[in-house]
Amino acid sequence: MTTIIDGKLCAKKILDDLKQKTKKLQKKPALAVILANDDASSKVYVASKEKHSLDLGFDSCVYRFDKSITQGELIKLIHELNENPNINGILVQLPLFKHLNSQEIIELINPKKDVDGFHPINVGKLNCGLEPYAICCTPKGIIKLLKEYKINLTGKNAIVIGRSNIVGKPTATLLTNENATVTLAHSKTKNLKELTKNADIIISATGVAKLIKADMVKKGAVVIDVGINKQANGKLIGDVDFEKVKNIASYITPVPGGVGPMTIACLMENTYELFLAQNKGII
Ligand code: NAP
Repeated sequence: MTTIIDGKLCAKKILDDLKQKTKKLQKKPALAVILANDDASSKVYVASKEKHSLDLGFDSCVYRFDKSITQGELIKLIHELNENPNINGILVQLPLFKHLNSQEIIELINPKKDVDGFHPINVGKLNCGLEPYAICCTPKGIIKLLKEYKINLTGKNAIVIGRSNIVGKPTATLLTNENATVTLAHSKTKNLKELTKNADIIISATGVAKLIKADMVKKGAVVIDVGINKQANGKLIGDVDFEKVKNIASYITPVPGGVGPMTIACLMENTYELFLAQNKGII
């Protein structure tokens, strides 16, 4: 029988726990979010981050900019937020306007406030098997989901499809750190089906709707769908042909309601953990 992994429920547990812990604090964790693009989805994501922060009792500061923002102004803001003891996490919503250099901005964030875990120091720590100040939210959420459902990763063949710095690569690293044997596939990979057929765990993060078909999945495999693809009718679907693959997989995440809620829950958890680390000995 197939288990549909309930990301909403798992995320709710994390958020409820954070809410309780936050109530007991004298000071509140604070997340600063910078939105400097015109993208409709980014606006929705930022509004959701703000809402979740406030729901938990965190302080939330959102900096919204129009196209006139310069790289220099953004750099100045990052320096101010780095120095501000009342801000614990800094998140730059990507992508930025095309005239801005996002990599330079990410590298200026104090790694101890890098709530997204994108700073090279945090990425490097993850790759070395050391504890980063924060782990990228989506990969962290995926591992938490697998653990919540007690899915054993040791010695398992896992394939991650997609090699972005924010999802694919860190997910492959985390799975490796959990003792899985990991293949990292991408758009130039040959014979993807041969590789997925051999996998005990398939994690797809491509943004290609229904890329993973039933004949690509081994019976009993665990299938985690990170993809978010908006259809013409406005409905969101994943990278996996869910209706067909769910008959073959042992565990599968739906879209929506799978990985997505875990990403936001892990962002909130990262904010809380950075707050604790920055206030050690004070609270
Ligand atoms: P991205 O930066 O565009 O990366 C996509 C990756 O998929 C690339 O590595 C690309 O290969 C690979 N790819 C594209 N077409 C492929 C194909 N036909 N076969 C195999 N690999 C293919 O995207 P991303 O930021 O990682 O996000 C991936 C998806 O996850 C998107 O749908 C995004 O919306 C979603 N997402 C969801 C969450 C969540 O919380 N649920 C969070 C973040 C992202 P190349 O490197 O060769 O180009």
